[in-house]
Amino acid sequence: MSSRKSLPSTPEATSLNRSQITFSPCVHMTKVLSSHARDTVLRSYGLAIRVSLLASPGSATPERFVSKDGSSLPHSRLIKLRAKILKCKECSSSLSPSFMCLQCSYVGCWKKGHAHAHAKHDGHVFGIDAARGHILCFRCGDYVGDPSLEEIRIKIIRSMKCK
Ligand SMILES: [Zn+2]
Ligand SMILES: [Zn+2]
Ligand SMILES: [Zn+2]
Repeated sequence: MSSRKSLPSTPEATSLNRSQITFSPCVHMTKVLSSHARDTVLRSYGLAIRVSLLASPGSATPERFVSKDGSSLPHSRLIKLRAKILKCKECSSSLSPSFMCLQCSYVGCWKKGHAHAHAKHDGHVFGIDAARGHILCFRCGDYVGDPSLEEIRIKIIRSMKCK
């Protein structure tokens, strides 16, 4: 099996409005969200979204973001912080798209297949596309979503908007 698959395309390629993109849940997503892991998944998702939206390329980046505690961070610091968090744990690459595991704190790159390898090895199913904040189901090989996750995303996007 080759790990050099190309990423599934997303509607975001044609639409820049993040908050209006929705994906349907797959069987794996539905299963996880109805299990005891639900809270963990929702929490990690919120965290991952915050990171992925930090100074994300292509977004209309305001000069400053206001963080949860009300303090504002300079943009340059956010970019550094983001790059540090999103490094692949195996090869330290921060150039290729990286995925944050939704079920643990693993971060793996796409290009060298480290994200896939982790999903296979640890039996974890979902990775968050760090560049866009979409959830990829490694079993389905496609982007998935859920209204409860979408709700979190929209909430965070709103809270991160510059005042
Ligand atoms: Zn890697
Ligand atoms: Zn994991
Ligand atoms: Zn799936």
